[in-house]
Amino acid sequence: MRPNSQGLKHKSSHDTEREFGGTLGAICIPVFLPLTVLFLISVSRCPEASVLKWPPSLPSTDHLWDPLALVVLLGWISLHALLYLMPLGKVSEGLVLRDGTRLKYPINGFHSLCISGVLLLLLVGLGAPLGYLFELLVPLAVCAIAVSFLFSVYLYIRSFWAPSHALALGGNTGNPLYDFFIGRELNPRIGNFDLKYFCELRPGLIGWVVINLGMLMKEVELRGSPSLAMILVNCFQLLYVADALWNEEAVLTTMDIVHDGFGFMLVFGDLAWVPFTYSLQAAFLVVHPQALSFLGAAAIIALNGVGYYIFRKSNSQKNQFRRDPSHPSVARLETIATATGKRLLVSGWWGLVRHPNYLGDLLMALAWSLPCGFSHLLPYFYVIYFTILLIHREDRDERQCRAKYGLAWDTYCRRVPYRIFPYVY
Ligand code: NDP
Repeated sequence: MRPNSQGLKHKSSHDTEREFGGTLGAICIPVFLPLTVLFLISVSRCPEASVLKWPPSLPSTDHLWDPLALVVLLGWISLHALLYLMPLGKVSEGLVLRDGTRLKYPINGFHSLCISGVLLLLLVGLGAPLGYLFELLVPLAVCAIAVSFLFSVYLYIRSFWAPSHALALGGNTGNPLYDFFIGRELNPRIGNFDLKYFCELRPGLIGWVVINLGMLMKEVELRGSPSLAMILVNCFQLLYVADALWNEEAVLTTMDIVHDGFGFMLVFGDLAWVPFTYSLQAAFLVVHPQALSFLGAAAIIALNGVGYYIFRKSNSQKNQFRRDPSHPSVARLETIATATGKRLLVSGWWGLVRHPNYLGDLLMALAWSLPCGFSHLLPYFYVIYFTILLIHREDRDERQCRAKYGLAWDTYCRRVPYRIFPYVY
């Protein structure tokens, strides 16, 4: 096949709206975010844990490179690639593509979570020192960052052999830095193996809860038993990951799969950012034990429960409505028509705010930070970053919906004026 340079030629660099700060963002983000990951891990493991102190005073045992980290990382990714290929679970079709076809995806992420969990527990039972992940955290993050860069280069190069209808509309500006960052090819595949779908919810997301478990084991090594705060953080985040994999099919309709190309932004997010920054609370607790009262724990569990309820109910309501608007659970909800033939919900969860799922997600994010107490800012990094991410994501989605639905979207916005927080934003 010839490289798809003609696919690029008919789109000038001005045709495509640029996101994330355009070329400047595409240069700065791939430098700044990997350094942020390493900085935050380093801060989480030094006693002061001050994000304002530079450079952080690292434990003397810390090192950047360890060949074991590379073996563990590649072994982990390979294990999940094998589990992806196992004929388990059902096969679902994605949304219709621009050429009228639909791709098939294995829905076996939850199986992968369970099987890799059992394998891990067997290893722990055989004496594998899972707590050593604490020592290995920085070199593991370095390897994940390096793998993200190399993989993104591979994706960028191979995208020139993809047919032009297989390219993401936003990743074709012709500016190599921006296209490398935002991603050119929409659904890169090796045979039936979908690289974006594989990375989206498996090695990084499951890796996150394994790192959490490693931090718990380290706490056991150091103090004889896990703390209540560590147990809560592990349970809350495991619930979140298990929920995402249980509802894996829903990812097929998300912006990441439907709209975004597969480039550095998603690769790095999936393989490095998520596992190493989302596990910061557990890493923090290893070095900064917190005394948590049962009453405090009960309040935090209630907050996580409310957040999870809003998150799950609102996501399920929209997914059900999009799959089958005549289903009894959604048939009686009030809707408005759009010129595309699709309708928009204006009652139920989606009549409360325009992104009730983000509201629930943010309440959970707060519940994950609270067990870490109030002495440091670092454990709140996730909820602060996530608020910014979801506000930005809401803005991106809003622009896409306005482009898709025009006047009907304006009517929806008038009917449901708040975006994420009722009466606030
Ligand atoms: P959403 O699930 O919020 O979907 C947005 C889409 O829903 C819109 O593009 C539109 O698509 C449809 N929609 C919007 N309003 C309505 C309405 N009133 N009625 C019917 N359909 C509507 O997208 P995300 O992918 O952003 O979020 C999915 C979940 O993932 C969220 O819970 C979010 O919090 C979570 N998330 C978590 C992240 C993390 O790092 N932990 C990162 C990003 C997201 P259409 O009309 O075409 O169907």
